[in-house]
Amino acid sequence: MLLISDEKTLAGEIDSLRKSGKLINFIPTMGNLHLGHSSLFKKSENNREIRVVSIFVNPLQFNEDKDFDNYPRTIESDKKKLLAEGVDVLFLPDVQIINVVKFAFSLGHIARKLCGVDRSGHFEGVAKIILKFLDIIKPDSITLGEKDYQQLLVIKKIIKDLEFKTEVRSYPTVRNKEGIALSSRNKLLGKKIFLAKYIPTVLKQINLEIIEGNFELHRLNYFKDFLEKSGIDRVHYLEILNEKNLARLTKVPCISRIFIAISINGIRLIDNMRIEYKLACSNDGFLIIKDINF
Ligand code: AMP
Repeated sequence: MLLISDEKTLAGEIDSLRKSGKLINFIPTMGNLHLGHSSLFKKSENNREIRVVSIFVNPLQFNEDKDFDNYPRTIESDKKKLLAEGVDVLFLPDVQIINVVKFAFSLGHIARKLCGVDRSGHFEGVAKIILKFLDIIKPDSITLGEKDYQQLLVIKKIIKDLEFKTEVRSYPTVRNKEGIALSSRNKLLGKKIFLAKYIPTVLKQINLEIIEGNFELHRLNYFKDFLEKSGIDRVHYLEILNEKNLARLTKVPCISRIFIAISINGIRLIDNMRIEYKLACSNDGFLIIKDINF
């Protein structure tokens, strides 16, 4: 595995790999690698492709210094995991890389919904560093997790609007036995990890009630209350939105997802779940299932 910190060296190496006929698959991460990340490395295993993984805890996407400082950093064990996965290149940029990021681009509506409401500048921070990485690497494909679904949409938008020739591949969330989405932040919860179990429980219950019929959007408030009464400090949002553009549901059936963000002891966790039926919404907030295969 090549270990590279300098962007010019990375661009040079990628250039020569490309000249030897290889395609470049890029998998950006913030490190503290777990089985969710590994699933992305495994899915992108392909003899014709070079897997480039970045590890960078990007200060631009953190709203609070404390959150940035506390983010788990486990670089030595991450390197071992990447070696074991047979990853070809690990890009470990210096924090200075953020000083040379140029960005004059509107992310529009997608970045203003959900986490964009109370994490001002977060997606702009994500976009800046991803744009920098795309510029250096010019990957043929980028592999991302659906765990960070809004981020996935933001990256898709950058690639489309700025006409990068990069295919976006996305994969489902890996969960533990209890259904909790794997996340580097889970270990910061300590004993309070048990509270995180309520997240998948609530997502599954909402999904079930929708399929059974008669689900009113108003019912989401019941689940918010339930979560806060269970000991979760705060539910930042719990919403059902069109998965393509994060728009509200309308009378036109669409594929949707349930999105949630909560905080436990100041640790923010996000999750989402796809609803396996097309949904429409009546004027008075009733969800109507349109059973169309997709
Ligand atoms: P992060 O290191 O948290 O920035 O995540 C790097 C990539 O791994 C992103 O594309 C995430 O969506 C993805 N990822 C994080 N957690 C999971 C998970 N539990 N399952 C699948 N992918 C994940």
